[in-house]
Amino acid sequence: MSVVQMHPAVRHDRTTDETTAPIVALCQRVAGADLVSRQRERGEAAAFQAVLAAEAAMIGSFPDTLGAAVPPMSWTGYPPVDDAAHAACAVTPLGSADGDHSWWLHATQRHDQLGEAQHVLTLIAPCTCGTYLHVEIPDEDALIMMLDELDTAPGAPVACDYRLRIRSASYADPAHDDFEPPF
Ligand SMILES: [Zn+2]
Repeated sequence: MSVVQMHPAVRHDRTTDETTAPIVALCQRVAGADLVSRQRERGEAAAFQAVLAAEAAMIGSFPDTLGAAVPPMSWTGYPPVDDAAHAACAVTPLGSADGDHSWWLHATQRHDQLGEAQHVLTLIAPCTCGTYLHVEIPDEDALIMMLDELDTAPGAPVACDYRLRIRSASYADPAHDDFEPPF
């Protein structure tokens, strides 16, 4: 029986002594690792990716509306929250005609049954009851229809029963019970 010794031709940046057992080297590296800053760096990277994805979704899927109205690179990225229960997202303020209020556009991704990442764009608007409404915008036609039928001044609080008055296929958050400004 012959035993073939595996000798890799190139050793990649070995920083530990050749004679150190791998488990000892591993434990030394683990002892020096800063888990908090590793997680923060990953969160920041995810937030940046969310900004790039939001830009791409806006220009790619909403070229005649949001893509034309929202200034480039106006998004702010946010890292995932609660152990990625809430994926990284990006938000841009849409302002209002009177400058007293704001609507926001919220962009994130979710995975469908096949594991494909899908862009999820949500309009966040103040409601007349003092809470905030979340309305998912499936596509550009739905956005055009919703804004066309919404008899609210641009960026002003929306009436609680707005869904009863529009035909839009948008998916609204029925609870809208959060009184905290979202961003
Ligand atoms: Zn309301």
